Amino acid sequence: RGIHRFSTAATLEEPIAPPVEINYTKLLINGQFVDSASGKTFPTLDPRTEEVIAYIAEGDAEDVNRAVSVARKAFDEGPWPRMSAYERARILLRFADLVEKHSDELAALETWDNGKPYEQAVNAELPMFVRLFHYYAGWADKIHGLTVPADGPHHVQTLHEPIGVTGQIIPWNFPLLMFAWKIGPALATGNTVVLKTAEQTPLTALYVAKLFHEAGLPPGVLNVISGYGPTAGAALASHMDVDKLAFTGSTDTGKIVLELAAKSNLKPVTLELGGKSPFIVCEDADIDKAVEQAHFALFFNQGQCCCAGSRTFVHERIYDEFLEKAKARAWRRTVGDPFKKGVEQGPQIDSEQFEKVLRYIRSGIDSNATLECGGERIGSKGFFIQPTVFSNVKDDMLIAKDEIFGPVQSILKFKGLDEVIKRANATQYGLAAGVYTKNIDTANTLSRGLRAGTVWINCFDVFDAGIPFGGYKMSGIGREKGIYSLKNYLQVKAVVTPLKNPAWL
Ligand code: NAD
Repeated sequence: RGIHRFSTAATLEEPIAPPVEINYTKLLINGQFVDSASGKTFPTLDPRTEEVIAYIAEGDAEDVNRAVSVARKAFDEGPWPRMSAYERARILLRFADLVEKHSDELAALETWDNGKPYEQAVNAELPMFVRLFHYYAGWADKIHGLTVPADGPHHVQTLHEPIGVTGQIIPWNFPLLMFAWKIGPALATGNTVVLKTAEQTPLTALYVAKLFHEAGLPPGVLNVISGYGPTAGAALASHMDVDKLAFTGSTDTGKIVLELAAKSNLKPVTLELGGKSPFIVCEDADIDKAVEQAHFALFFNQGQCCCAGSRTFVHERIYDEFLEKAKARAWRRTVGDPFKKGVEQGPQIDSEQFEKVLRYIRSGIDSNATLECGGERIGSKGFFIQPTVFSNVKDDMLIAKDEIFGPVQSILKFKGLDEVIKRANATQYGLAAGVYTKNIDTANTLSRGLRAGTVWINCFDVFDAGIPFGGYKMSGIGREKGIYSLKNYLQVKAVVTPLKNPAWL
């Protein structure tokens, strides 16, 4: 089986001390760090060691009420929706500069709380965060309505107004980027926000929210509540004074928040949910590149991506060669302390996800898929899992149907394009897809045939602030990023005025 780099786990070594201090552990309401109303706290853990990093104020319904009421006041009476859009843009830009200045600390905090490789956080995620705020700052003063022709002597214009108090609930897999995707468009369009972070990863949002206030954000415009889903999250989703809800997380929770929103004040909801994205390697593909991209598409971020390419479909003529190379690549994957240089994979986020991934691996073995590589935990402490590859995976196996959210690659064989389109689409999800081919006609057939919000051709996980992202089917409702996200946060008002003695209509 050769030497597999992932056998030398960081858990066998002393964990590297994160180069950052924890300064913010309370809720951020009205520009102030405050204790929760109940006085309760909860621990956030280091997934490398399972030790407590810090105790965080635990917000619940009462804190959500407090935050929504200050966000309401900031929207109804405060300067934020009333200042010039240019001024708002300048605050967003100053904030982006501050985040850039503190990138090293923020990346360290993100790695500590989440377990993702520090190099990934600092070199990719922090620059994307900054870029997103530059992008939406650019939009702030370019939002305008239309003049609409009327059938008669009326002047008709549309106003694009902020929607009001927005509630935002984010997951733990990309805590900073999910903050950016939600906060960027909401604030650029003049709304106020109550954001609930994931209980696993509360740290970085508090830090960046502090920087936002340093950049000149008025108090009450952005409030951050740490806490659990069924308490704080549900209170936000069902709040009568929240005008819009944006959620990212699992499809099951998405259904719950949609129902809470509908049963309360019918607030509009955007949802970014799960996926089981196909990655299709055609017979004419550059095999080495496809192997590397398919590996990246699945294993990136410990496999904890909603758009992970978690069904690798490979054409039967190249299947054996692809499998050998994919297996070799997985063996070479460097797993270890995410603060260590060159480490590609850190621990899973928490014991619940860790156990869930191991259960799926057992289910793959039990259903007679062939375990080619990995399959076990690494070390005895921390949530490290070996990069795992299954071959001979069939469409009806659980590992081919469910979102595993871990480092488990399932390789399936296909023969023809129509067949692979049908099989790739035979899922409740429709978030993303990858296609590897050198043939433009094949690329066009697949990109149009696949029912997914993003199709990456000869690449994967290429994100930018301007590229919309979201799901078909049960992967979500609406799109984030790009111009598409702006309309989530705007109301359209038609204003109609009679024209007296018009020279023309
Ligand atoms: P989750 O949906 O439970 O959590 C996401 C967010 O929703 C968190 O902030 C959580 O506190 C909140 N939440 C949970 N229950 C809630 C409720 N009843 N009302 C309101 N808010 C609630 O997801 P998870 O437990 O973190 O992960 C479970 C699965 O979700 C993963 O295995 C994966 O399949 C999926 N997931 C998807 C994404 C994505 O980006 N699409 C991200 C993380 C997790």
